[in-house]
Amino acid sequence: MSAIPDQPDGIDPHTTDLPDLARAAERIGEYIRANGDGLYDLIGRAPLYARDLEALRQAAEQLVALSTPPATDPDLYLIWSHHHDMWWGPAGSGYRSHHTDAGRYTLADTKQWLGRSCDCCEVPEVVVPVPAPSESGSTSVQQLIAEATKARIAAGDVNRAAAVAQ
Ligand SMILES: [Zn+2]
Repeated sequence: MSAIPDQPDGIDPHTTDLPDLARAAERIGEYIRANGDGLYDLIGRAPLYARDLEALRQAAEQLVALSTPPATDPDLYLIWSHHHDMWWGPAGSGYRSHHTDAGRYTLADTKQWLGRSCDCCEVPEVVVPVPAPSESGSTSVQQLIAEATKARIAAGDVNRAAAVAQ
C-alpha cells in the first residue's frame, strides 16, 4: 500500500496551497464520524470542539453545493479504470483521481473508449452512472464501481488477455 501522504490531495508541502474544499469537508466529516462529539483538543486555553469542525464542514458543504451546477443527468456516465485506479478525464484526455473531475459520457460514447485490454485486470474499465449528490461520498462511489464490476464478471464480459495470463 502507498505511504500516508504528508499533505492532502498531493499538495506540495513547500507551498501554502489549500486542498479542494469539497474533499476537505469530506475528510472532516469522516474524522467527526470516527471520533464522535465533544472536546477534541485543548492546547493552552484554546479548545477545539467537534461542533466547531462540524459548523465549518456544513458551511463548506453549502458553499460547494452553491458553486456546483446540478449536473446529475441520469443519462451520463463516468468511466473508472481499474488498470490505472483513476477516472477517465473528459473526452478521453488522461485520468483524474476524483470523480467530480472525471469526464461525463453518454452510454454510446463510452463504447468507443472501452474494450481496451491489459495483462493484469479482469475488468480494465467499468462504466458507472454519474453519482447523485447523495451518493457522492467515497464509500458510495466505491460501491457503484464494485457493482458495475461484479455485473461485468457475472455477464462474462471480461478481459481474456488477463484470464490467459493468470
Ligand atoms: Zn490492468
